[in-house]
Formats: sequence, structure tokens, C-alpha cells
Amino acid sequence: MDHFLYKDGVLHAEDVSIPDIARVVGTPFYLYSAATLRRHFEVFDQALSGMDHLVCYAMKANSNLAVIKLLSDMGAGMDVVSGGEYRRAIAAGVPGDRIVFSGVGKTREEMRLALTHGIRQFNLESEPEMRALSQVASELGVEAPVTVRVNPDVDAKTHAKIATGKSENKFGIPIARAREVYAEIAALPGLRAVGIDVHIGSQLTDLAPFRAAFEKVAALTEVLRADGHEIIRLDLGGGLGIPYERSNEVPPLPSDYGQVIRETVGHLGCEVEIEPGRLIAGNAGLMVASVIYLKHGEGRDFLILDAAMNDLVRPSMYDAHHDIVPVIEADVGVDQVPHDIVGPVCETGDTFAKARNLPPLKDGDLVAFRSAGAYGAVMASEYNSRPLIPEVLVDGDHFAVIRRRPTFDEMLARDEIPEWL
Ligand SMILES: *Cc1c(COP(=O)(O)O)cnc(C)c1O
Repeated sequence: MDHFLYKDGVLHAEDVSIPDIARVVGTPFYLYSAATLRRHFEVFDQALSGMDHLVCYAMKANSNLAVIKLLSDMGAGMDVVSGGEYRRAIAAGVPGDRIVFSGVGKTREEMRLALTHGIRQFNLESEPEMRALSQVASELGVEAPVTVRVNPDVDAKTHAKIATGKSENKFGIPIARAREVYAEIAALPGLRAVGIDVHIGSQLTDLAPFRAAFEKVAALTEVLRADGHEIIRLDLGGGLGIPYERSNEVPPLPSDYGQVIRETVGHLGCEVEIEPGRLIAGNAGLMVASVIYLKHGEGRDFLILDAAMNDLVRPSMYDAHHDIVPVIEADVGVDQVPHDIVGPVCETGDTFAKARNLPPLKDGDLVAFRSAGAYGAVMASEYNSRPLIPEVLVDGDHFAVIRRRPTFDEMLARDEIPEWL
């Protein structure tokens, strides 16, 4: 559920009309709904009610400081995967003991940063990383709380680029080797095992792979406890999918996902962490663009927008579907016609959708891409020297630009021509 609805034929974000925002900000831009973000966090928080838990927002989905602060103010923890994300969490006021550090290649510098400013736990992904953290923590004279990310060899049945829980993926330590690794952690200085971590992929639309992975984690918890390790925390990762195509997708509800968690690990008395990213931010955001030209091609019409693959890369990178809707609703009875919806970038890959039915549109009309709040702005680039597009947050009847559009001069000023040229 989101708060992007038509009122009197005009698409609104909560109580603000989108054309009003476009007049102030210019297009294209990302637009987020605070009420939707809050609601999604609450849905997860409630799904785990009755269990000791922390919802750690995976900020790689959308790491704008305003989004982080909004969620942190509600009590969310943060899952970070780089020193840059860690710095964002701190800058937004998230306490260190609510920050979980994930990622396959944490550098010693990143470890030092987090150990110095506070960390809830590191999710270790390999033995070399484990030894490096032991060294860094020992040098600092502290003990690093850790979990090991186990790879349960479960097929998440999602897009190959975002499946992470099969043995051939680069993530985690094979679950069969976990006992050895925990034994080594116990023997190393500067490390304290607090739990187990698992994350099998993103945009999962079926609960069965989660159940299979969590059952393996539950069994491992018993084994490690029998070996004498104190397992007090289970980090079950993120990955719950969202409906990108409203007409024909019904992903599982967070409450049912919570029920799977209860059934698989509820009896262990562990504190449960989950790391949702997409489900919190995805449907809380739109990308709004303008039509530049309508071009009649051979056998098809091209709708050329001022947004492109550099602004929203998901369709060209993951073959992702985004519902694309006119901001001004068509009159009833108007015929929809198929359009190929494209950006101005010089690649055929710069195609958002093919043969998509839309009412007739003309130059200057606004369209909105739904479900663009996660893995949208964060994956944008300046390819074709197109400056990053701004981000706007609506809350009730007011809005604010939470990242402004850089000027062309700012973009050019980052390059330097050496004096010897
Ligand atoms: C990407 C990622 C997440 C978030 O995944 P979503 O599909 O956005 O919920 C959580 N944990 C880890 C370790 C990740 O890499």
C-alpha cells in the first residue's frame, strides 16, 4: 500500500499534487512518501511483535540522509555495506549500537571506523576477513561483536544478479564449514561471536526459500550452542519482494514472513534481526519525468522522456518492470495505445518499457514510474553527462528537496585538466 493516489484526476503524493512539485523542482526527480516509509517500517516491526527484535533497514536500497533519519527516529537499526553507508548512518544520528555492518569485502579502514564510532555487530563473510577484524580490534584494544554469514545453499528463485544464497555465489561461508569457523573465532583475540547471519537474495516472491534457509540456521544454532558458543542473535537478512506489476503480482505479506520466522527460530530465544531494504523503500517512491517528444516509428510509437537509464537503471540492468502512469489521469473511455518508453541516452538499452499501453500524451506531459523508491536514486550515474536528479520527500501537505539537482558547473568542476596538457 502507498500514498500515491489520484485526486480529481491528478496524481498526488499524500496531500501534495505532483504537478505542483514538478513546477518547483523541474523534471526528472525522485519523490518519496514519508507516510509510506513509516507504514512499511511499522508493518515489519509488527510482523515480529512478541519476539525480541530489531528491524535494520538495508540502506543500500535508498540511503538519503532524510530517509535514514525518518526510519531511525522510529527505532530502526541500519544495515550498512560500506564505510560510506556507515558514515551516512552516523551523520543521520543513528546510534552505533543499532548499526550492523554487512558486505563481502570490508576493508581494515572500514573496520577501524566502525569500531571507533560504535557498532552492533559485523557480519563476517570469509575467514581472511575474520582474521583481519581480529587484528584490527586487537590493535584498538576492543572486542568486535560478530556473526558469520552462512551460505545455506538455498535457491531464492529470483533474478540471477540478486540471488545470493547458492553455494556458487560469492557470499558467506558454506554452512557445512560453520563449526570450524566459529571454533576459530573463539580462539582469536578481539572477536566475540554473538550470533548467525543469513541473507539469500532480493525480490523473493515466495516464502519457501526463506523457510528452508531459516530452518538450516535454527539447526546450526543448536549445533553451535552444543559446541559451547553463545548464540544470542539471529540476523535473517532482507529480501522480501514487492509487487512491481500491480495487475498480476501478489508477493507474500510481511506478517506471513514474520510467521515463518516465528515457526522456524521462535523457540530458540534469540534476538531476531531482519534487514529489509526494498520492501521499506520501493513502493514509497516514484520517479517523475516529462515527455520530451512523441515520435512515430515504424509500427510503434516512441515516448521519449527526459529521464533515462542513468537515472533509473533497473529496467536495463535487471529487465525490471515498473508501472508507468500518466500524472494527469486520462478521461474515461480514452483509448490506450502501445508505446515504447525510452530515454535520450545513446544506447538501445535505454528502454524503460516496450509496447506499454498509455493514453495519448504530448510534449511536456508528466509520467510517474511506480515502485522506484528502492535501488533507484542510489544506483544512478551521470552517464552521458546527465547530472544526478533531485530527491523530494513529501510528508502530509508539505514537501522538501532532500537532495538538490547539481548544476552543470558543479558536475564539470570535479574534473581537472592537468597543467601539462
Ligand atoms: C541487499 C541486502 C539486503 C536488503 O535486501 P532487500 O531485497 O532490499 O530487502 C539485506 N541484507 C544484505 C546483506 C543485503 O546485501
